[in-house]
Amino acid sequence: MPTITLSFDSNNRLKVIKDTANTYDTCVIYDAPDNENFLDKIHWQNTDYDCFIAYEESDTTQDLYLTWEALESAKKTQALSDLMLVIEPHLINISYLKFNQRDYIYRFRNTKERNSQIYQKNATAIYQSQLCSSIKSIRRLKEKISNDPITLNFGAVEYILPSHFGFCLGVQNAIERAYETIANYPDQNIYMLSELIHNPFVNNDLNKRGLKYLQTDKGQWLDADGELIGDMSDASALWNQLKLKDIVIIPAFGATHEDKIRLIMKGIALKEFDATCMLVEKVWKAIKTHSEEGFTTLIHGKYYHEETKATFSNALSYGPALIIADIEEAKILGSVILADGADKLKLFEKHFANRCSPGFNPEIDLEKIAIVNQTTLLRNLTIEIINYLREIITEKYGEANRRKHLWENEKGDTLCYATQVNQDALIKALSADLDQALVVGGKNSSNTYQLYQICAKEFGENAHYIQSEANIQSMDTIHHYIYSKSGNANEETRDFIPQDTRKVEDMNKPVRILITGGASCPDGIIQQVISKINGFFPKEKLRSMEDVLNDLKAIEESEV
Ligand code: SF4
Repeated sequence: MPTITLSFDSNNRLKVIKDTANTYDTCVIYDAPDNENFLDKIHWQNTDYDCFIAYEESDTTQDLYLTWEALESAKKTQALSDLMLVIEPHLINISYLKFNQRDYIYRFRNTKERNSQIYQKNATAIYQSQLCSSIKSIRRLKEKISNDPITLNFGAVEYILPSHFGFCLGVQNAIERAYETIANYPDQNIYMLSELIHNPFVNNDLNKRGLKYLQTDKGQWLDADGELIGDMSDASALWNQLKLKDIVIIPAFGATHEDKIRLIMKGIALKEFDATCMLVEKVWKAIKTHSEEGFTTLIHGKYYHEETKATFSNALSYGPALIIADIEEAKILGSVILADGADKLKLFEKHFANRCSPGFNPEIDLEKIAIVNQTTLLRNLTIEIINYLREIITEKYGEANRRKHLWENEKGDTLCYATQVNQDALIKALSADLDQALVVGGKNSSNTYQLYQICAKEFGENAHYIQSEANIQSMDTIHHYIYSKSGNANEETRDFIPQDTRKVEDMNKPVRILITGGASCPDGIIQQVISKINGFFPKEKLRSMEDVLNDLKAIEESEV
């Protein structure tokens, strides 16, 4: 098949030529000898071509590189208009063609490559915690006790911290990337597509350093003051102010194709500033694999969450897809799978009409299903859904045919191991004798909510979901977040440390509080929570921070 090669620069601008009448025309190379970066087969000017992309530097004066948006309104030849029409559906791939199935946009850095100094240096107290650093150092050095919780003995109060809590590698990556970008491009406008991670303190700190947010975590557009924009044509929307050479960082959750294409059309470089977590990308690769085998993607996730939206949008480019939120919805879907004819259609439309890909046909598209997860959900709930749908598929098609109708990977789910490790460590820590549990993290953080759920099962109203020490009012009251299905958390004032557990007079019976942090919770906030609670106890009943750090050092240096 003949080939054509189109050239783009790093800002996703297409190379074109201009004739004497100032009309833009195509600038394609026919049958280049050394093509790489295959885009797709296209049909253009009555011919089928294999279309390839070449990436070029755009600093030569005779070459013309124009953004898609500029070309759309420019005077151009029919050939260029036709070419743009056939290329437009593939725009999303332009930046990422050099990556194959085994590559990731941004692999986790190993410990030596980490650059945590970039955000700890000159940072507010949110990132700094000697206590948490010591605990994490013990975890790294002491294989035998690396999964045991650690007790911080402050005398009248003790804190039990699971072996694993707080920042995951994906979040560390994203934070490093954001602070590095601010440091490396002091003269450019730097935007985040939406919240970098679900932690308001991290997002505010970046904001103070000049980084602006294009939209909220729900995808609502913002202006330069962070105010919501009602009308997308409003010139004050930051989206409408983006200029070539501006930088837009894509957060760890990834981004929808719609947002990425909007950026590409405006000439914003993508892959250099894409902090999508490689574990989210791994789910997208799984989707590609099972879609190519004809399976419909069933995403178990919160439909309003950025990651689920990005995964759904990704899945659409490979085949039909559907989102289910929980076991209740899985059960309704089970009824749809088992139903026939008009009942099937009616039931499907009633419950899933706005959660599925356009043109979804339940008669055909539910015959072969593959379940993937939002990475940060609770494992038990995920397994319950997978097991339930396995039973439904077996009932419908028989055990012998199950694998033809249900795609199963070896691990069983696509949950992120970092989230999993935090959950497992928390469950282990819960076996200690405890009075209270505090779960610290952004109130819109899915993985933090999962940790809270684990604690709430054990402690009921003595488990509290907080964002920081500011939620703790006194020894008597605490502001606890109620996570809602819509993603908008409400706040409730609760009793904190009950009178009967305040054994201040008896140093042998301290108040014992479990503290853990979600994957987007900086260590400094955990330490601030500890300091605030310590402040409620008489000084003479407390051991000093130095003593507690010495305890940790002794564990680190022990023979264990
Ligand atoms: S929680 Fe997991 S998937 Fe999400 S950013 Fe962290 S490592 Fe990545």
